[in-house]
Amino acid sequence: MADAGEVQEARPDADVTDDFELAGVPDAFQRLWTPHRLAYIKGGQDKVTSEQTCPFCHAPELSDEESLIVHRGRYAFVLLNLFPYNAGHLLVCPYRHVPDYTDVDAAETAEIAALTQTAMRVLRRVSNPTGFNLGMNQGATGGAGIAAHLHQHVVPRWGGDGNFLPIIAQTKAITQTLGEVREQVAAAWPSDGAAEPAS
Ligand SMILES: [Zn+2]
Repeated sequence: MADAGEVQEARPDADVTDDFELAGVPDAFQRLWTPHRLAYIKGGQDKVTSEQTCPFCHAPELSDEESLIVHRGRYAFVLLNLFPYNAGHLLVCPYRHVPDYTDVDAAETAEIAALTQTAMRVLRRVSNPTGFNLGMNQGATGGAGIAAHLHQHVVPRWGGDGNFLPIIAQTKAITQTLGEVREQVAAAWPSDGAAEPAS
């Protein structure tokens, strides 16, 4: 359709179209993919066979700007989802390449929880969402795009921002670039990592 990118049509019964499908709910959004993102999609889940090919293991080796990381904790880090459902869609990942929530130890579990709370506080401060979707998709059957490396979704929601139910196929407009969002969220992240930012 558009010449600036390819329209990915929402087809509830189609193959997974990106790496971060949420909890088994077919994606009702259409997206305008940019070429570099399309290249990323082609290198999707089936290529994540080890830590060497895992994007969540690779991300911390890059700069924050390159990896879209907004905060690096001791056991876990926070980065923007390359395939956001909304502007500010964050992922909280342990550094360790483990697939399952039962694989993280107490310290990792505690930090993932704290970073999730801080992510919500930061997003509220930055962009005033009125709701959130939080969750971890476990296994490819559970909807995880990168099933091999645990990641918690933090998706900010606003009234009228769309609908996760596959009722209406619509084009999802992401109005800010990922780089702009990363800068805003990183700047608002509290300097001590997980404390509540001053309001
Ligand atoms: Zn990994």
